[in-house]
Amino acid sequence: MKVTLINANTIKPPLSPIGLLYLSAYLKSKGMLVNVVDLCCANDIPAALSSMGKNQPDIIGVSIRNIDAAQMKMSKYFLPDVLTIIKLVKEQCPRTPLVLGGAGFSIAPVEIMEMTKADYGVVGEGEAALYALVQGLQTGSDVRAVAGLIFRDGDGKIRINPPQNSSTAFLRALPFQDLDAVNYSLYYNQGGMASLQTKRGCALDCVYCTYPLIEGKNYRLIPPAHVVDEMEYVLSRGYDYFHFSDSVFNVPREHALQVCREIIRRGLKVKWHAYMSPQGFDAELAGVLAAAGNDGVLFGVDSCSESMLGHLGKGFHKRDIAHACEACRVHGLEFSFHILFGAPGETMETVEETLQAIDDLRPTAAFLTQGIRVYRDTPIYKRLVSEGKLDPGRSLLEPYFYLSEELGPRFPGRVHEYAVARDFVFSDTTAKSPSTDEAVVALYKRNFRGPCWKILKELKRVSAGR
Ligand code: SF4
Repeated sequence: MKVTLINANTIKPPLSPIGLLYLSAYLKSKGMLVNVVDLCCANDIPAALSSMGKNQPDIIGVSIRNIDAAQMKMSKYFLPDVLTIIKLVKEQCPRTPLVLGGAGFSIAPVEIMEMTKADYGVVGEGEAALYALVQGLQTGSDVRAVAGLIFRDGDGKIRINPPQNSSTAFLRALPFQDLDAVNYSLYYNQGGMASLQTKRGCALDCVYCTYPLIEGKNYRLIPPAHVVDEMEYVLSRGYDYFHFSDSVFNVPREHALQVCREIIRRGLKVKWHAYMSPQGFDAELAGVLAAAGNDGVLFGVDSCSESMLGHLGKGFHKRDIAHACEACRVHGLEFSFHILFGAPGETMETVEETLQAIDDLRPTAAFLTQGIRVYRDTPIYKRLVSEGKLDPGRSLLEPYFYLSEELGPRFPGRVHEYAVARDFVFSDTTAKSPSTDEAVVALYKRNFRGPCWKILKELKRVSAGR
């Protein structure tokens, strides 16, 4: 079977499509002919899709990574562009079965199926479900029982089968990501990092997050030796700066320690960045991270107010943030905060508590955003519906944000003024624009490596003449 997979995510700086690369590797390992059409790297999207049509694929999969940027002040709604891409695909290959998938699709699969008139969809992880679908279409067998599949039944109604999360055994046997499926060096040179994963799933309960709904709440841990085998493989291709795209790298803590110790044992000369939780982040962990080449920790704390950490469902306390920062400092690790203002319960007092904590804890960088993007079935969605603040009949495809009613008119100006006065703080009212994105890509092209927050700090320092 000839399978064409289309990466419909065109965000810049480019993010390597790690899910699609695993999907490609898996299907190839099953003997399928896979062609990836990467629209992120395409200069001319209609031309790229036109040449795809000439290959006459037996099935086409379109990966929708995000439907929007999930940022209130820098709101971008990607779905209209994705719909245009799907329309072009259908014009090129009107009789070829079309299947949609990806994290963005999995957020609102039925609505997107209705909008696009696609034949099938896959919710959650794609490898096993897409393979079962392709096999079924090849042999003419009934595919209606495939876990995670969305399809139209005989009566035209859209049916959805609950997804089945991958097992640890499945992930252990999963081939390394298919770096040759895309222009990987372009991703590396314009995005600054190669991607890896050490697990799937997230057991935490951040109230706004769709990740546990899509990938499941149970962790499937990839054996440390397998993770580092893949790291060595990517390293052998000339890429030595990594980003672990796990939900949170250091939960479970023991698994993170084992991965790091394996990197140390093999003596790999690598640098890497990851999202981390302050939960259980102590000096022992920081020391092992540093020895394994960690070059930056992004704490997605969302708030430094004790009451807001509770409202946000973060599962750690203000004192844990302070301990984690101290542990980083002891071992010379650079760390940053992502802050998300405006969840239910946020007041000017909790905002000031967070701003004061940022001054006290002095992360390398802090990025302040405001407004909670509400997605269906998340804890915040259920709370707002139960409090009568959100109509459950409302479509949430177009970006919808919640901002605490208890924040007064002083709030936006206060955050803006706070960020402007500090060279290590960025707010969504000041920091990002298309020209900033271009400046970030330009620095990556000049061999800068590492996370965006390090670049933003450098840009702010240069523009302020410091
Ligand atoms: S830790 Fe990250 S992935 Fe997990 S629920 Fe929170 S925001 Fe989502």
